[in-house]
Amino acid sequence: MAPKKYKSSIPRQMYWSTDLKNSKICPKCNSLLENEYHSYLLLVKTEKDVESFMVGNDKGYFCPNCAVVVLDKDEFGKMVLGFHDVSSSKFTVAGIVDLDTIPEDKKNKLLGDDDNPIPLVSFTNYPNLSGDVN
Ligand SMILES: [Zn+2]
Repeated sequence: MAPKKYKSSIPRQMYWSTDLKNSKICPKCNSLLENEYHSYLLLVKTEKDVESFMVGNDKGYFCPNCAVVVLDKDEFGKMVLGFHDVSSSKFTVAGIVDLDTIPEDKKNKLLGDDDNPIPLVSFTNYPNLSGDVN
């Protein structure tokens, strides 16, 4: 894979697209955002507990000027429904998974095992489980 322009290892402030007037520009500095493929840790609150899923997509829009990412809430919501056919589920995204930090000899192992934890770079404004799946 081509190297990423936006490093996964940088902790970023996350915004939902639906919370912004214009989700094409950075809410902090007004720069034009750019989307890039990244992996994310989704948290989904079901009736019983909170489950986590790793998803990869290009629905994150990164600011070239500051550590901000805007996530397309509708698209993430669709991914949640891919795992859970429960429209009342609450979901959020905990952060970006920095797959580049996984050592070569562990790349074939299951992520999330005790000896191969998910390299999560949490958002600086770790979001609450408040997003409704519509
Ligand atoms: Zn910015």
